[in-house]
Amino acid sequence: MPIKSSKKTAYQSLEKKLTINHENIWISFPAKIKNEIFSFADGYMQFLDVCRTERLCVQWAKKMLEKNNFKDLDTIKQKSAKPGQAFYYIFRNKVIVAGKIGKAGVDNGMNLVLSHIDAPRVDLKPYPLYEDERMALLKTHYYGGIKKYQWTSIPLALHGIAITKSGKSVEIHIGDKPTDPIFTITDILPHLAKQQMARKTKDAILGEEMNVLVGSIPVDDKKVKKAVKLTVLECLYKTYGIDEEDFIAMEVAIVPAFPVRDIGLDRGMIGGYGQDDRICSFAGLQALLNAKPTTKTQLAIWIDREEIGSTGDTGADSDFIRFLFGKIAQAVKGDISEETLKGIFYQSEAISGDVTGGLDSTHKSIADVNNAPRINEGIVICRYSGYGGKFSTSEASAEFTAKIMRIFRGNKIPWQSGELGKVDEGGGGTIAKFISNYGIKIIDCGPPILNMHSPYEVASKADLYATYLGYKAFFENA
Ligand code: MN
Ligand code: MN
Repeated sequence: MPIKSSKKTAYQSLEKKLTINHENIWISFPAKIKNEIFSFADGYMQFLDVCRTERLCVQWAKKMLEKNNFKDLDTIKQKSAKPGQAFYYIFRNKVIVAGKIGKAGVDNGMNLVLSHIDAPRVDLKPYPLYEDERMALLKTHYYGGIKKYQWTSIPLALHGIAITKSGKSVEIHIGDKPTDPIFTITDILPHLAKQQMARKTKDAILGEEMNVLVGSIPVDDKKVKKAVKLTVLECLYKTYGIDEEDFIAMEVAIVPAFPVRDIGLDRGMIGGYGQDDRICSFAGLQALLNAKPTTKTQLAIWIDREEIGSTGDTGADSDFIRFLFGKIAQAVKGDISEETLKGIFYQSEAISGDVTGGLDSTHKSIADVNNAPRINEGIVICRYSGYGGKFSTSEASAEFTAKIMRIFRGNKIPWQSGELGKVDEGGGGTIAKFISNYGIKIIDCGPPILNMHSPYEVASKADLYATYLGYKAFFENA
């Protein structure tokens, strides 16, 4: 029998003192917080179910912010924004910013949590609708990095807007209500897939094979050549007042129609589309709502177009951040010089709230297990992203990284460090590098998720809550 002793040896104590010991949040958090984790996740899941596009995210946030007395920044007169003033700003229906003016206004810079509200999806081509073999289909062009084969044989919904000939904007939402029709991209039956199975996985379904099934009943007129296509056009015209030409200007996303659900018998995880990056967006906005005021102005920014490289007027690689800072400064101080604006940028600090790939036990070979973030171990600090030798990353400095670590440690936030996969296994980027170009200090922090960029992403409820607490601690202490 070994001698039982509860006393630690000197080296055991030294080990505890000197080595990292990540704990599972469900064990390390006090039991009473478990209810908070679950109820916070409930709110998030309702949000995720409704917000299937960036436009829907913006509408949801606007409603919520107005309910909480946030004022439209455009209605605030120059030099009139006082400390404590809560405001929001919407840019072109696809970006929303929520903020609270700090005690020092904008003089000490601002604290930002930025996240993106676009998600990988399947867009329509300008001329999408066609009929072939008495079926009506939509040609598509995917948006963001997806494994195309994952998007076949699943229920799909259609969300977006069309602009009528008179210039009226019409919202289209088909497929989320249980009584709605849905759509699907067909695949080859296994019996006849011999040639397809011999293709490389990336070509299992080609871009031009991502055709969405939208109709099968012809109009009852033998003289009409494309009679099924006409049925579809007739349905669209009756409901939305649009015709085939109006597809050209339409902004419509084909997205998974799966409802957001609990995953696991213990209900510890969340399954749903678009968690990259709406999980950080939800956590960031809730953190802003609940953060105690400090001297610095606090901002939660939901931005668009990250999944295609942040290009375009509503992406982070645009002039928007400069415009926004100028606008906020104007509300507080009136017109300011370029030098003053630069000063605000250089004193500002930011978290780029974005998800990272969690360690998947089935597919460990792509990860360096020492540096892979794990589900249920908290918000992940990611100093750099990029690919092939840190290419194209903004790397957070030692000083700023250590500051974020101090904030998390000091506020008992469950956190871990993480890197995306093995060196040279692949890579990716976030909006961090675009924000750092302004001179704003920035670091990526968000939860690890599984099934990233698939139609059904998986996140841990505990990591979601840790992310929220982490962002809140950043707002209150940075
Ligand atoms: Mn992302
Ligand atoms: Mn992504």
